[in-house]
Amino acid sequence: MQNNMSNNNQNDNNNKNFFNDNPLLSFAIFAIIAILLFKTFIGDSGSTGDVAGAFGGTTQTKSVKYSDVKSAIKSGKVQSVKITPSTIEATSVEGNQKTKLIAQLVPTGDKELVPLLEEKNVVYEGVMGGGIISDLIGMLLPILIFFAIWMFLAKKMTKGMGGGILGVGKADKLINAEKPDTKFSDVAGVEEAKDEVKEIVDFLKFPERYIELGAKIPKGLLLVGPPGTGKTLLAKAVAGEASVPFFSVSGSSFIEMFVGVGASRVRDLFEQAKKDAPSIIFIDEIDAIGKSRASGAQFGGNDEREQTLNQLLAEMDGFGSNTPVIVLAATNRPEILDAALLRAGRFDRQVLVDKPDYEGRLAILKVHSKDVKMSNNVDMTVIAKATAGLAGADLANIINEGALLAGRNNKKQIDQSDLMEAIERAFVGLEKKNRKINDIEKKIVSYHESGHALLAELTKGASRVTKVSIIPRGLGALGYTLHLPEEENRFLKQKHELLAELDVLLAGRGAEDVFLGEISTGASNDLQRATDIIKAMISVYGMSDVAGLMVLEKSTGNSFLGGGQTTKDYSDKMAEKIDDTVKMMLDSHYASVKETLNTYKDAIEEMTRVLLETEVIEGAKVREIISEFEIKNGMPTRLAHT
Ligand code: ADP
Ligand code: MG
Ligand code: ZN
Repeated sequence: MQNNMSNNNQNDNNNKNFFNDNPLLSFAIFAIIAILLFKTFIGDSGSTGDVAGAFGGTTQTKSVKYSDVKSAIKSGKVQSVKITPSTIEATSVEGNQKTKLIAQLVPTGDKELVPLLEEKNVVYEGVMGGGIISDLIGMLLPILIFFAIWMFLAKKMTKGMGGGILGVGKADKLINAEKPDTKFSDVAGVEEAKDEVKEIVDFLKFPERYIELGAKIPKGLLLVGPPGTGKTLLAKAVAGEASVPFFSVSGSSFIEMFVGVGASRVRDLFEQAKKDAPSIIFIDEIDAIGKSRASGAQFGGNDEREQTLNQLLAEMDGFGSNTPVIVLAATNRPEILDAALLRAGRFDRQVLVDKPDYEGRLAILKVHSKDVKMSNNVDMTVIAKATAGLAGADLANIINEGALLAGRNNKKQIDQSDLMEAIERAFVGLEKKNRKINDIEKKIVSYHESGHALLAELTKGASRVTKVSIIPRGLGALGYTLHLPEEENRFLKQKHELLAELDVLLAGRGAEDVFLGEISTGASNDLQRATDIIKAMISVYGMSDVAGLMVLEKSTGNSFLGGGQTTKDYSDKMAEKIDDTVKMMLDSHYASVKETLNTYKDAIEEMTRVLLETEVIEGAKVREIISEFEIKNGMPTRLAHT
């Protein structure tokens, strides 16, 4: 499954750029260009217009037809003639005025020419080399000029990337490795992500332990999250904690380069990292090269990107799991990545680096306060509350902006007021109107997520709620309800579990409907997934009456993140029946979900109230709210997880 990519790349292994290793050669080429340019300009200087001649008069040069030259000779004005293999140049002098007539010789040759020159007593000579050399220059010059421009541009470009693939120098200077002193304590508010990368640090510190055991360590790890949440910081912290070299490149820098350069840069990168192993390779903005090939095809594809991507895949497959090199990549658009990148042995692990919640923001603010002089009157909890929806980078910015404001006011320490003003500045651009809409949105999202949470807790077979949040989390979701399955690593699902999932999905929309009397676009993803579940039950799992045990869809390939394909194999009549069944099941489950929501109205109201106040509810609190409601109303408990 994973080695089908590795053969595509042999052919571009050979065009490794020779300038890397040949500084002398590139210098020589420049010298030749310079000489040729010089020669051309000097040699041609008399070819047009009037030029002061050595004899004190002026020379006029004209490009004329062969017949004009001949008639000039016939008229007797011409004193001397120069003949090259392709041109004829006739010179006549009248007083101070010297005239040169230049014409192309006729290809058929002219037998009368020499007798005519003899007859008119013209001094004539043949010039052998000149013609050929100027012809050659004429041919080579455009090529050489192009070459010079190409080298110039390539130099400029690689300079911007820190190091240079075309630059003069040895490979070890091309890719900048650093040994960051960033530590995990510098990264705050993303505890889950930190936990996930911690085992890598141990592997990089003591690779022998793992290798001797024959343990397979992940090669690639994808950090996914909105901009400014600390993906780069976290990657650096892994290198810092393990104190290994950190090779970092940006995906977009590959795409700006010339064909073949991106691939060879990837090769150099891995070569270098393996030489310095244990080490970390960090590829920022990997979506720039890792875009799904299917989606990038509309403009005939991008050869450079594809070559670079193929090279990256080949390199990742190329080193064994006992080479202590870990490739970390970051993206805020995981959904557009090529499925090939996510296969086993490549970036088969994803770590969510999300926008921080209240506690997280507080922790981040504390980290960044360490480096500045903060007054005792500063209450960070107020700052953390006021910055909902902001990422770590924004928070770092607010502290810095606060310091700048304090400095401007000639203060010795940063006051609360400075920070509040900094927050306001951070939100500038968000008009009041926008905030109003945000308040409405918050309410919709709170009801929606409470609905999911309630059904998840009441439905047997559903995964229990870990956390409900209404913090907008960059990746498209306005809020989310985090579920964890009861047992880890389950591969089989029973029918009642699929139906439970269906109910939980429908409850988001249901809650909007029941409590707000109006529905929003926020449920589209839920509805898509709900529909998919029913369709799969019918056509893949043989769990319906319409199709019985007949499997109607075959899936081919790896369908992680939608990379695979399915083939449908059934009649139009069956298709119609399936559609009817899907609709019917959605309707009936939606109705029963709404009934439950109505029954637990006050519990939902309470969850929504807490959510609007604190943005996040832990699963335990959700269960507490539900059970209090049931006790108060003398109902038997319907909590499915205890
Ligand atoms: P990303 O790579 O996700 O876009 P960065 O790692 O480049 O974000 O973050 C930019 C800066 O913002 C960091 O250098 C750091 O100062 C600050 N920052 C971002 N996230 C965090 C965090 N979780 N903890 C502490 N600082 C953070
Ligand atoms: Mg970054
Ligand atoms: Zn939802």
